[in-house]
Amino acid sequence: MLDSPTVLVVDFGAQYAQLIARRVRECRVYSEIIPHDTPVAEIARRRPAGIVLSGGPKSVYSPGAPDVDPKMFDLGVPVLGICYGQQLMARTLGGEVARTGSAEFGRADLEVLSPGSVLFSDQPAEQSVWMSHNDAVVQAPEGFRLTASTQASPVAGFEAPRRGLYGVQFHPEVVHSPWGTEVLKNFLYQGCALIPSWTMTSIIESTTASISQVVGSDRVVCALSGGVDSSVAAALVHRAVGDQLTCVFVDHGLLRASEAEQVEDTFRRHLEIDLIHIKAADRFLEALRGVVDPETKRKRIGETFIRVFEETARADPEDARWLVQGTLYPDVIESGSRDAARIKSHHNVGGLPDDMAFTLVEPLRNLFKDEVRRVGVELGLPEEIVWRQPFPGPGLAVRIIGEVTAERLDILRTADAIVVDEINRAGLGRAVWQAFAVLPAIHSVGIQGDERTYGYPIVVRAVSSEDAMTADWVRLPFEVLERISSRVVGTVPEINRVVYDVTSKPPGTIEWE
Ligand code: GLN
Repeated sequence: MLDSPTVLVVDFGAQYAQLIARRVRECRVYSEIIPHDTPVAEIARRRPAGIVLSGGPKSVYSPGAPDVDPKMFDLGVPVLGICYGQQLMARTLGGEVARTGSAEFGRADLEVLSPGSVLFSDQPAEQSVWMSHNDAVVQAPEGFRLTASTQASPVAGFEAPRRGLYGVQFHPEVVHSPWGTEVLKNFLYQGCALIPSWTMTSIIESTTASISQVVGSDRVVCALSGGVDSSVAAALVHRAVGDQLTCVFVDHGLLRASEAEQVEDTFRRHLEIDLIHIKAADRFLEALRGVVDPETKRKRIGETFIRVFEETARADPEDARWLVQGTLYPDVIESGSRDAARIKSHHNVGGLPDDMAFTLVEPLRNLFKDEVRRVGVELGLPEEIVWRQPFPGPGLAVRIIGEVTAERLDILRTADAIVVDEINRAGLGRAVWQAFAVLPAIHSVGIQGDERTYGYPIVVRAVSSEDAMTADWVRLPFEVLERISSRVVGTVPEINRVVYDVTSKPPGTIEWE
């Protein structure tokens, strides 16, 4: 990020590289992840304020294990090695790493040996830490002092503060190392002499400055979906270029109850952003007619979206050159293109015709999701948008199992709103990652008011998750389930049965489709 002192996390294939970067950021220091084969000259060019060498799955002495250029330690930039990173530092500088035969996985008792240590300053002499290793440093390099050990790791911590070099065998970035954040803070604030200055305000300032610089006086469009990312991206770009931004909200009629109104309200009335609200529900329904297969649904919705968007953008007399996208940092890391300081990127947005080449403005490409939310709050976006649950792009279309019709959408929307409302009323809104209703388009027999019915069932799904990669079903109190059930069948005449999905992910997915 422009002008912010940066700590680079060199990723050796660690399970926790992203976590390290996030923790550093939580200490209010900007941090980015770079691949381990980044040349040292490139690292030097970026003038980092500090470097963290991450953990990694290999053994430092095994053939083909990722290595570190010894010049890294002579840049005059403080370096902290964590686990594999520490082992690499030890081996490169003349210490010794070996498979000692006593691995440590999980909690370990650490003894701090050097009261004058930088990393452990103002910390208890005995603390619990989280370990995950087979190998261990058995001999620190010359000139390093031993700072900590555990039963199985004789050199669980070492440092050579005058050279700015530090290492720990344990993982300070995980919550199971209760003093871990303090260790990181000591490295950052003392070892690297940084001050905690990277705040949401500084993010907003530096991002808006670079957006206005890059975009100049050109027109910019943003396709709003109603979700967190595109909303925050739009608000941020608006802060930078004001009236040059037009938001296009393609309302496909597949949103949840009152979401479309919220988008209108927030952007047009509250933020006074130029908003084109295209009510295209009929076109989307038409495109979905007779379609049952979820992949085909997604494809049809995607195509229709592009067509509607294109018509609007073309109808605009002053051609916009820039398109805002809410790409987040994890997507950037995963796609392998780590030039994260970029504000603009590739032309030709997938699906749009060639003569409509936009250049992308991706103001969130340095940020993690929780940071995006904090930026959103700071920009004055309402809670309902900032804390909106993840929602599939094709919307309710994939929560109807079977053909999507206007009637089924109405039924699902009403039932879904009840599910959400009851969970919120029970005070469980923030505790669930996602909660929603699914409408499988089948019928079963029921009895309502002495009359035999043949109605739809509704599936209630509520899951907890950290990152959507895995999830568990929420143990909703029976009273909440009961209220949902009776309200749904009492309100929606087409529904005569309510079931609760008790499947985790894996084996299930969060969405049904
Ligand atoms: N693979 C190395 C070991 O087993 C480092 C492990 C790690 O970095 N978590 O010791």
